[in-house]
Amino acid sequence: MGRFILDQRHTTKDRGKLLRPLGTVNLAEKLRFVQAGKATRPTTKRHRRTQVLCEDLKILGATVSCEAGQWYVSIQLDIQKERSPTPVPVVGVDVGITHAAVVSDGRRLQNHRPLASHLKKLGKLQRQISRKQKTKDLETGRTIFSKNYEKQRRKVAREHQKIANIRRDVQHKFTTELARTCGAVGIEDLHVVGMMANRKLSRAVADAAMGQLLQFLQTKVESAGGDLFIASRWFPSTKRCSCCGHIKKRMPLKHRTYVCQICELVIDRDMNAAFNLAWFATDMLCQRHA
Ligand SMILES: [Zn+2]
Repeated sequence: MGRFILDQRHTTKDRGKLLRPLGTVNLAEKLRFVQAGKATRPTTKRHRRTQVLCEDLKILGATVSCEAGQWYVSIQLDIQKERSPTPVPVVGVDVGITHAAVVSDGRRLQNHRPLASHLKKLGKLQRQISRKQKTKDLETGRTIFSKNYEKQRRKVAREHQKIANIRRDVQHKFTTELARTCGAVGIEDLHVVGMMANRKLSRAVADAAMGQLLQFLQTKVESAGGDLFIASRWFPSTKRCSCCGHIKKRMPLKHRTYVCQICELVIDRDMNAAFNLAWFATDMLCQRHA
């Protein structure tokens, strides 16, 4: 429990800037970043693992938000820390539905499909909401929701939030690990909108939240000092042989292994794509240095 004094800023035009102290807020977690000189010793093992020691630390501000009835505060910091020089392996990441992500060095991220596993619960909650009372105001034409309707609505929102949290947690862990261990990452620009248009795929695509994965990777790789190379949508990552470069005309989704007719390479479909993206990243790196 860290304690912080927060300011709530009103910037409405007629009133001008007005600073009002919000008072002391109890936080559920301590700040992860700790100034090296002033650091108090972490009391638990878990705390020690999450602590990041910085040379200099300055709190710039805080933003308070509310999501599904729960309050969050995100605190902006200005930190200075020395970056440790790390070896820079180049990897490719293939993003998909069967596996959420396959890295060319063999790492795989399982697709947890939190929506698929929570669908039953969600359905139940949604059905309950439909039985709650709502009336129409005859004069204004507005719908008036009952107290119980509102309560149920909050339950549904909480459930949706739970699902999003599972997704976010898994992806955060994976991308942090990747950004920490890889210098350059090759990834495909995903045509998520196009895939969502496919009715059979859309729910699975949405559940995998590939766009979010790409977004996380972009910010994390950059802030770790690495490079993220995004291959164009038309880059033949699945059709090309990662061994000899032969490009197949067709590679339908149901074929899970890639078999090359030229060099007789037999490889997992996603792994082949990951290798191709790793080659792509290497190419881009070479072009830059040339
Ligand atoms: Zn081949």
